[in-house]
Amino acid sequence: MGTLSFAAARRAVLDRVAIPGAIATESVWLTDAMGRVCAEDIGSDRDMPPLPRSLRDGFAVRSSDLPGRLTVAGEIRAGQMPTETLVAGTAVSIMTGAVIPDGADQVVMKEHVTRAADRVETSRPGVAGEWISAAGSMAQCGEVVLPHGTRIGAGAIAMLASVGRTQVSVLRQPVVRILATGDEVVEIARQPNATEVRNSNSWALAADVKRFGGRPEILPIAPDDETVTRDLIEYGLKADLLLISGGVSAGDYDFVESALSQLGAEFYFTEVAIQPGKPTVFGKARGTYFFGLPGNPLSTLVTFRVFAEAALARLCGVAEPDFQLSRAALRSPYRHRPGLTRFLPGKLSNEGRSVEVLPWQGSGDIPALVRANCLVVVDSEQEEWAAGDSIEVIPA
Ligand code: AMP
Ligand code: MG
Repeated sequence: MGTLSFAAARRAVLDRVAIPGAIATESVWLTDAMGRVCAEDIGSDRDMPPLPRSLRDGFAVRSSDLPGRLTVAGEIRAGQMPTETLVAGTAVSIMTGAVIPDGADQVVMKEHVTRAADRVETSRPGVAGEWISAAGSMAQCGEVVLPHGTRIGAGAIAMLASVGRTQVSVLRQPVVRILATGDEVVEIARQPNATEVRNSNSWALAADVKRFGGRPEILPIAPDDETVTRDLIEYGLKADLLLISGGVSAGDYDFVESALSQLGAEFYFTEVAIQPGKPTVFGKARGTYFFGLPGNPLSTLVTFRVFAEAALARLCGVAEPDFQLSRAALRSPYRHRPGLTRFLPGKLSNEGRSVEVLPWQGSGDIPALVRANCLVVVDSEQEEWAAGDSIEVIPA
């Protein structure tokens, strides 16, 4: 099997993993809905807004009276129902969010009038509808304002609260089993000897799985033994998704692919032209998708983020994973040997417009991961960048 480009490998994941046909649902309180996927079409229970409202503090007027001098006939506060029709030649003082009285069809901002006693004068032209939010203009009663399949963020929470929902039906979260491999890898509660490393990958992956909407289950560490690895993989495949870390390189004791083959796996890719993460494996066995992620901590996290997260999103019931690629200006020049798409630990400035590639000692450098707040994506075809050039980044 050949080496896929980064884009082709990502496409392969998105082409393969579809939203499952029937995902179970459960009802959660609004306080627990953040990050979950909405399982119902939420309709608005009333017109939004129910009555025309002012979008500014100012004066409600008849547009046909403008520009001109008008008599102030009263005041309407937010929450009050206007009782009188606005007659020609008059204006009423109105607050943001207050209901527009009958007869008025424009609001002039406070800043655009001069007021003297009970009169206001403005040079603004008449523009019917200006600074008025018409009844039902944001949404109409019964209209779907939050479609099923939407990942619930703060905006959706505001929407649910606005329509008075204290509970919402959401899709069940996919179970993602996580299997670390390697004779040198020990459980984190154990004191490693000098040749061993603690199993940081399972914990880091579990955290990202949770963050991106899955339910992580960490399995015991598989030693570099083909039979044990196969048995643990077989168990791991009885989930919605299996993530394996380590054991996918070309070493003499990398048994993940052969164990998967014994279980009848179909492989969609086994190598991608990226760094770190070249030996990433993606396939399906016993009806379950799996990823074999290279074991170095940075490789594991990068390949989860750029490949496995897209599969997880689909299994969560989300059609389009929100893979946030943005751009920032490099603070220093950068060059590399073209051919591989690189993902480097980077530091985005507070305002997010400039980025620095952090020094790091290769993909085992966990301390560099702590200093980073993004991954800088180095294009496989471009050779050099000057300071100030724009480059792609994935915010952490
Ligand atoms: P591998 O991909 O199996 O060749 O592993 C590459 C390197 O990643 C190993 O030498 C370990 O130092 C490190 N590594 C592998 N698995 C883990 C893990 N679960 N947690 C932390 N580091 C790991
Ligand atoms: Mg290994």
